[in-house]
This record gives sequence, structure tokens and C-alpha cells, in this order.
Amino acid sequence: MAAVASNSLRGGIDLGGTKIEAIVVDGDNTVMASSRRPTPSSGGPAAVAAELVRAITGACQAAGVETSALRGVGVGSPGVVDETTGAVSTARNLPDWEGSFELGATLNRELGTPVLVGNDVQVATDAEFDLGAGRPYSSLLGVMWGTGVGGGLILDGKPWLGRGGAVEIGHMVVRIDGRRCPCGRRGCMEAYAGRAAMQARAQQRSDKGEKTDLFKLMKERGRTKLTSAVWARALERGDKLAIELLDEAVEALGAGIASAQNLLDVEAIVIGGGLGVRLGEPFVRRIRQAMQPHLFNDAHPPDVLVAALGDLGGALGAALLVSRRVEAARAPVGSSAAPAGNGSSAQKAASSGEAASDGEAPAAGDIPSAR
Ligand SMILES: [Zn+2]
Repeated sequence: MAAVASNSLRGGIDLGGTKIEAIVVDGDNTVMASSRRPTPSSGGPAAVAAELVRAITGACQAAGVETSALRGVGVGSPGVVDETTGAVSTARNLPDWEGSFELGATLNRELGTPVLVGNDVQVATDAEFDLGAGRPYSSLLGVMWGTGVGGGLILDGKPWLGRGGAVEIGHMVVRIDGRRCPCGRRGCMEAYAGRAAMQARAQQRSDKGEKTDLFKLMKERGRTKLTSAVWARALERGDKLAIELLDEAVEALGAGIASAQNLLDVEAIVIGGGLGVRLGEPFVRRIRQAMQPHLFNDAHPPDVLVAALGDLGGALGAALLVSRRVEAARAPVGSSAAPAGNGSSAQKAASSGEAASDGEAPAAGDIPSAR
């Protein structure tokens, strides 16, 4: 029992297309330390894994703890994740990530602690469900609007993973034979709303001589990509091309998310990701409006909210993987069955493991409670 204090510490890593965010949290999911590094743009999975090790080691140093003393490290990764083996495949927003890579096993060897890998967008959705904007609900669709557009889903209090590749909401088709998507197909929502696709579009039109400050702002900030901050700044300046491309993005998000809602009928939709968090409530309001004409059940639209955990949601959700799986391994079979109607809190307690014990504490500070 002497090791309880350090044993309650967990690591969480959010592996994004542009940056890696690593945190160390305590048993109450309070962030003790964090470390941020750019995602390598070459070198394949091995280079990415090495950078993940540096990021979590940096966060551990800041927290004054060895990586091997952590109870475990969770990783939210793009791509198709095999949660049982920790292997990751089809991670298109990462460099040269062809085929399957044993990410969990590789990190486990380097860090000396259990490593659990989940889909980045699903774990960010889990975090919003357990600790953020999704707490009042028992069904939730998370839409992470960033480099790509990813989705995470909670049904009846439990994550829905499908066969490992569920909720690729960015690849809902919003226009048959439409614009080419970074995934290679045509007409996907992400082809209009993903930051990578928007940048490619902006570049094409700028190359053709259209006037825009987007790339000037990018260079001023020492960036090589049009980050969310660059888009937000261009918008403030009234940049015509930025406004037009963001208008298209909102229309595509409206159609895609409403189509998903027509299928799922969830209670709430949380909009997060780099662009979602940066552009915030005014854009969430616009997305809500853009959804409305496409909703079949238009008299009862779902709540549509901004992610409450901000930039750290992905890393917090990754850290939750550790407590969630350890708790699941301990829970007696059938304990997750909760009576209908009283769903939310009982099911959350079952699904969120350790987080449930502190679930009523204002962990995220700015939780929107009443609507
Ligand atoms: Zn696509």
C-alpha cells in the first residue's frame, strides 16, 4: 500500500496529426504536468513512437515521477486501433504509416508500464462523456473537427467501437462524386471540412492568384501548416477566402452530422478538435443551424455543444483508458447493466471506472451544467 500515491498517477497521450500532447494525471483526473511536441512529419511509426516516449517522459519529469512508476499510459491514436493488442493501422494523418504497427507493445517496452491504445477521437469523446460537456447524457456523438474530422460514439453509456473502425464520420458522403478527400475517395465531409483538405484547397486557389492572407499569417507564426489559430486570425481579419472555405466547412458539417443524427438519434453532440475548440460557440451555433434542414426529426434536434475540456480532452481521455480497463478487469460480469431511465449516472459509474468516484467533483471547472 505504500506505493498508492504514485500508483494512482496515470499518463495520457493524445497523438494528433500536428502535435503530441502528453499529460500525467492523479486519481482525480487533475492534470499534474504536461508536455507538448510536434508530430514528426517523416520517419514512419518508429519516429512517431520515439516522439511519444519523449513527450510522456517530459511530462513525467515535470511531475517528478518515473514513467515506470505510472499505473499505466493511455494513448489516443488516429487510425484503426486494435484495443486488445495496441496495434494501429491505417493512420492516414501520420507520416508513412503503412500497414499495422505494434504501437502499444513498442511503447510498453520503452516505458516499463502498461500501455493501452484507443482511437484518438473515441477517447476524446469518452473524456467529454465522463468529465466534460457530455456528463448529463447517456448517448453522445463526439465530432472532432481538426486536421481531419473524426467521430466518437457513446450509446447507452458505453463506447461503440464497432470492429475497431466505427464512427468515421468525416467520411460520411455529403456530395456524390464531390471533391477528393484526403482518404482518396470523393465527396466525404472531411473533403470540405477537414483542415488538411481546406489547406490544400486554399493553396490551389492562392496559386491561381486569389488573394488571401492565410499563408502570410502562417509564415508570421513560423508555421508550416494552416493551424486552427491561423484560420481564426484570418477570419477576424475578414479574409474572403478563409470565410468562404469555412462557410463550406460548416455546410458540410451540418449535412454530415445531421445524417449521422438521423441514424443514431443521440441526446447530444459535442464539437471538439482543434478547429472546433478554437472557433467555439459561434461556430457550433452555425453548425446547429446548418444541421437543421437535414434533420428528419427536426422538431427534436439534439443538444449541440462545444467540447468543455478544450485541448486536453484527448490526453485526458487517453489517461481514462487506463482506469477504465483496469476497472473493467475487476468488475463482476454483468455489473454494467443499469436500469433504464436512471441510465446516465449509473451507467457512467460502470463505464468510467475510477473517474466515477470523483465524477461529481467539478473536475473540469467550467462544466456547462444547465441548459
Ligand atoms: Zn474520405
